[in-house]
Amino acid sequence: MGKIYDLIIAGSGPAGLAAAIYAERAELDTLVIEKEMMSGGQILSTYEVDNYPGLPGSSGFDLGMKFREHADRLGAVFTEDCIESAELSGEVKTLFGQKETYQARAVIIATGAHHRKLGVPGEEELSGSGVSYCATCDGAFFKDKTAAVIGGGDVALEDAIFLSRLCSKVHLIHRRDELRGAKTLQKRVLESDKIEVHWDTVVDAIEGNGRVESLVLTNRKTGETKRLETDGVFIAVGIEPESNVFSRSIETDRQGYLAAGEDGVTSVPGVFAAGDVRTKQLRQVLTAASDGANCVTSVERYLAER
Ligand code: NAP
Repeated sequence: MGKIYDLIIAGSGPAGLAAAIYAERAELDTLVIEKEMMSGGQILSTYEVDNYPGLPGSSGFDLGMKFREHADRLGAVFTEDCIESAELSGEVKTLFGQKETYQARAVIIATGAHHRKLGVPGEEELSGSGVSYCATCDGAFFKDKTAAVIGGGDVALEDAIFLSRLCSKVHLIHRRDELRGAKTLQKRVLESDKIEVHWDTVVDAIEGNGRVESLVLTNRKTGETKRLETDGVFIAVGIEPESNVFSRSIETDRQGYLAAGEDGVTSVPGVFAAGDVRTKQLRQVLTAASDGANCVTSVERYLAER
């Protein structure tokens, strides 16, 4: 077997990159394993991050790049691989990637989360043909067309606002009579003359012949069912943790988030969880970055005790 690192960081979103920065400053021999070609995680596809202190109105992409540049400047080492399984119980932890096998004395899991599916007929068949999970990636295809956004959280509201700049009309479809997202975003949505909110409404099916043409909607209060014509559907109904590889060996909550407090300590000694993949109240860039920093402090303590 090859080299044994002090620390392996799995994931290169804000949590993983902050951990990399802190690990370099702590002079830990560290490797960051990233699944995607580009660091930054979910913020890369966020049009605007307006709540990261000191950097109002940042583009998500630019902020992700700045995190990465900072880690690079300190000498962080990255490799691109997809971790398929892990042996975490011993003093030396082993991560089995598609390309290589990696070993370290401590691991920070910062693998983030992925988009939840809506789970209705037509969603899978029309994915990429009008069904999208990323408004900033695919919004331009719907210039001067009609789009529907499903959900009522921060992402759905941000998507609706973003699309309202491009599309002729945006339908926001939410299952309740109250939005979940930040009040400032709610205000912008409700004040927009391009966005129409369909309250208490669920999507029963996405229809179209090779491309999205319409949605079948039901109003949960009145029971009324209607067909809504649209060119695109942006699904923003939340996220699910990217924890499958680790959840067999680490305690999770019922939704699969790795159980860990602010210090990142999981049920397995030497394994720490940071960012969206861990149980926490608030999933934002700021809290992900703070998790990365906290985890490195926990790693230093753990390694010093060995
Ligand atoms: P979220 O906050 O969990 O919201 C998901 C939305 O989808 C909710 O409105 C939910 O409805 C709805 N929903 C869930 N399952 C559904 C289903 N099967 N059918 C119809 N609607 C469904 O998720 P998110 O907006 O993706 O955000 C993820 C996390 O990132 C959150 O913690 C969020 O705060 C954070 N985030 C923060 C920012 C920011 O600070 N600027 C930006 C983006 C994301 P209910 O409301 O009825 O539950």
